[in-house]
Amino acid sequence: MGPSVDELPVAKSEHETVALITIDTWRADHLSKELTPTIWALSESGERYENAWSPMGLTTPAHASMLTGSMPWEHGSWANNHHGYGVNQSVVLLPERYEGWATGAFVSAYPAGPEGGLDRGWEVFDGPQTGERAGAVAVERALKWLPSDRPALLWVHVYEPHGPYEGRGMSERERYAEEVQLADKTLKPLIDVLRARKATIVVTSDHGEVLDEERCSFQHERSISDHVLKVPMVRWGPGIESSVITGWVGLDDVPALLKGGAIAAREVWVGQSGMCESDCAPGCAPAGLQGRDTVAITSEGRLVDRPGKGRFSVGQPVTDLGPTLDAVPPMPEPFMDQTDHARSLGYIDPPTDR
Ligand SMILES: [Zn+2]
Repeated sequence: MGPSVDELPVAKSEHETVALITIDTWRADHLSKELTPTIWALSESGERYENAWSPMGLTTPAHASMLTGSMPWEHGSWANNHHGYGVNQSVVLLPERYEGWATGAFVSAYPAGPEGGLDRGWEVFDGPQTGERAGAVAVERALKWLPSDRPALLWVHVYEPHGPYEGRGMSERERYAEEVQLADKTLKPLIDVLRARKATIVVTSDHGEVLDEERCSFQHERSISDHVLKVPMVRWGPGIESSVITGWVGLDDVPALLKGGAIAAREVWVGQSGMCESDCAPGCAPAGLQGRDTVAITSEGRLVDRPGKGRFSVGQPVTDLGPTLDAVPPMPEPFMDQTDHARSLGYIDPPTDR
């Protein structure tokens, strides 16, 4: 038997620790005792949010919402970094709110990387230069970095559940679940240390995933359904009591959640698809990044704005959500041409013809 977690030097700090852990492409219905035992255990002595929402099924914009506390049409990251969008310089990022703290980010895929501005303000920003890397690398580097002589803000991102799904399962659905299990197992050494340090921890996802239940399956960027926009969320830490929270929160609440206080529930959530393809959403036009569905969601129903088709209700008629949709500005043109750059780095879009 080696030393217990509590005996590791990194597990000891008299200073505050605040940690954001993001599992890319992790669906809300894949937070469970069976699939994610480490995070489930965390939720049992902390808060589990049953209604947490992502603004968009794209990695860079959704993480930008977590790091800025604002929506994509406010922070400027409307699309993944390789599409030439990024966080506006005027918007404050999470580490910039922690002056005097040690701040470290350890990410596992290019879309969560520095292109697009997510690296601004961190003392240490560590991620792959191309494609993706195993979450275990990010965890190992984070544990090596985590200082004990200062308060520390940490962001660790793991990419395992993102396609292509690897595993032994016979179906894509089974292999996706295996990737979720692997992400939880990968994070266990980190979560054990953070618990020993009595850190404030938020574990969530940037977006979910459509499995086999929609016309366009095994993707996230083309859908505004709950499979994509609902995300799992757990908070644990000093002063946080064991509870299941049904009030609605969004990824833009993450900076406030990390501060440890109570979060005011909201009654309306606005989300957007990352792009549109007529095969996925008949009637959508133009296809591509500029042809997005925008949706205002309440517990009663939802109002969708679909380019080329107009607005329509899903569920109860909810036309009074019109002003909410009106408040979302049109998407600007990208301010950087990074597509060729991103391709040269090995990160390209999934095929559009599936
Ligand atoms: Zn993602």
